[in-house]
Amino acid sequence: MIVVTRSGVSDAEIDRIRERIEQLGLRTHISRGEHRTIIGCIGDEALLAEASLLTLPGVESVTPVMKPYKLAAREFVAEPSLVRVGAHGGAVVGGNRLSVIAGPCSVEGREMLRETAVSVKASGAGMLRGGAYKPRSSPYAFQGLGVAALEMLAAVRAETGLPIVTEVMDTRQVEEISGYADMLQIGARNMQNFSLLSEVGSVQRPVLLKRGLSGTIKELLMAAEYIMARGNRDVILCERGIRTYETMTRNTLDIAAIPVLKRETHLPVIVDPSHAGGRADLVAPLSFAAIAAGADGLIVEVHPCPSDALSDGDQSLTLTAFEALMRDLQPFAKAVGRELSGPAPSGIAAA
Ligand code: PEP
Ligand code: MN
Repeated sequence: MIVVTRSGVSDAEIDRIRERIEQLGLRTHISRGEHRTIIGCIGDEALLAEASLLTLPGVESVTPVMKPYKLAAREFVAEPSLVRVGAHGGAVVGGNRLSVIAGPCSVEGREMLRETAVSVKASGAGMLRGGAYKPRSSPYAFQGLGVAALEMLAAVRAETGLPIVTEVMDTRQVEEISGYADMLQIGARNMQNFSLLSEVGSVQRPVLLKRGLSGTIKELLMAAEYIMARGNRDVILCERGIRTYETMTRNTLDIAAIPVLKRETHLPVIVDPSHAGGRADLVAPLSFAAIAAGADGLIVEVHPCPSDALSDGDQSLTLTAFEALMRDLQPFAKAVGRELSGPAPSGIAAA
């Protein structure tokens, strides 16, 4: 922690600041300038976390030196972490091979889910998404099929082998959904639901943590820290666009968040181009940008008939548009030295 004093600070004020820091068990290093004095605090910075040094007379600013996230920090684990999703190795997120999760916004029925899963798998997707409980802005909008959707997801997993990812909105759902899902999704609206983060931190399921609508990168990392601090180290971060003044897109995809997160954390980072742009025609260009910027994968909404979708139809790709996306992504993956499963001419996913 570095404490900078106001200009004209008195010796008595400096003594008081120094004494307060030393009382808390740290040592100080004082460097007196003509107008200001800089007090370096040496020792465990966490001891100062609640000390409110800014309230002491004469203090102008207090700047932490250490990062507030520890388990998520790159310093903690030098190598990028790999997160395994699903039984028998299932899918691996974070390695050289890019991971693509695809499927409908909401599970609307068994047949549409099955048709989507078979098709996205053939196009190269490695995991299936589908909401059973939906966080809708309106209480009158479709809220998801609940446990019936979880049953459908499990049945389609049994048929296709694709690990399944679905959102958990409430602490009361964690146990039930963990009984079905291979990965638990924390939606943007719950990024700072700390009791939910702690709850998913204590189950043995990987967590896909989406960035909040107005969440900073640091807040996203602190949310991951909540999960990890409870013992669950299998966290994947997802940039899904943030709310800005722009109205031509649903959200603004923060491309810079990808390299910033890759620098700050060892956790895998994926991108959701569907919720970022909010329009099907934006999904491909945003996906290309995400892969070029270093993302470890994508989560994409796909529906057999987007115009009939009960949620997020405007941003959902058709099955053939998703196939084209997986083909068109190949040169971008190659350019960054990553591998990506794609559609085979026969319609069977290439290795
Ligand atoms: C979703 O994945 O369907 C969803 C609701 O996403 P987000 O939480 O990012 O809005
Ligand atoms: Mn959606």
